[in-house]
Amino acid sequence: MAPKNSLKDHLIDRITRLGPLSISEYMSECLLHPTLGYYTTRDPLGAKGDFTTAPEISQMFGELIGLCLAQAWQTNGAPKRFQLVELGPGRGTLMADILRATANIPGFHEAAEVHLIEASEKLRARQADRLHAFDVQWHGDVASLPDLPIYLVANEFFDALPIRQFIRQEDDKFSEHHVGATNGVLEFGLTPPVELPQLAYRLDDTKPGDTIEINSAGQSVAGFIAGRIEALGGMALIIDYGSWRSNGDTLQALADHKKVSPLSNPGRADITAHVDFEELAIAAGAHCKVTPPLPQGVFLERLGITDRARQLARNMVGDALEIHIAAHRRLTHPSEMGNLFQVMALYDSGAAAPPGFDE
Ligand code: SAH
Repeated sequence: MAPKNSLKDHLIDRITRLGPLSISEYMSECLLHPTLGYYTTRDPLGAKGDFTTAPEISQMFGELIGLCLAQAWQTNGAPKRFQLVELGPGRGTLMADILRATANIPGFHEAAEVHLIEASEKLRARQADRLHAFDVQWHGDVASLPDLPIYLVANEFFDALPIRQFIRQEDDKFSEHHVGATNGVLEFGLTPPVELPQLAYRLDDTKPGDTIEINSAGQSVAGFIAGRIEALGGMALIIDYGSWRSNGDTLQALADHKKVSPLSNPGRADITAHVDFEELAIAAGAHCKVTPPLPQGVFLERLGITDRARQLARNMVGDALEIHIAAHRRLTHPSEMGNLFQVMALYDSGAAAPPGFDE
């Protein structure tokens, strides 16, 4: 039984008074409700949390991303002042590894202003702790970032942004998936079918019954960052699980490293959806160049993860070595995170493709 004043009670009350919620409203409430949301009430990462991410698996991930960003900065003329930005930094591990790996790159730290986009106060505190040696500024969203060349990374950020789900019906119409409530139980429902001109581009590759997911918040963020790159220079790495063009219902909830129904425990399970890289590329492509997404395993190999893994292994024995070998495999192997996760770069139209994308 959920305790009184749980997010579930709050949502059922709201649905009873005001009607069903779209999936995006439901996701936003579950993840970021100010007092009962998933990210606002806990640190969900790591073995004891609900899920683990690449930077938490091995320091190599952040080190290679750091060197990639720094090399792009150098190739772009090493601007004297720039913003090093991370979207959704979790525990701050990725940024800490980026900063450690780039400490010896001449001028990089002196030129960098670190800006973090984080909605959760709880996670901001974790990040402040982890990055205490650095001068860091936080923002609730990208709009308040300064006017400086931008070098940005987002790992598993876009999958946490709220999506809407449309189900194709007969006669080229679409219904929207929503969340209603009957007798105190949350349940999925559908709006009546209507024509939606904004989904006309999906009429060729879908059939009645298919689900199309739209991440408008993700499109806005990608478009905004691309606009900054166009105006001020720089590049962005978007890393997430997903594919080119969404098809199907990919909404999923994880609690304690296990899949659960997205409706079963609002505010207590992580809810995400696969990232549709195409919609982000379309939003960004109006402003800057966009690479095709590259499988994470290929990207990390091109940046030299195997050499780095060997170098680190030299000082390891026993369990630590086993864990290190498993981490390398987990990040890169096609049957683990290597193919499921994709990396897409946004970069200045006048610049060379970023490291890893230039072969
Ligand atoms: N990048 C980290 C954490 C991924 S979890 C890692 O790889 O380990 C998602 C992160 O995005 C969390 O820090 C979460 O609080 C943050 N987040 C989710 N939705 C957000 C939003 N709308 N605005 C800002 N931050 C958000």
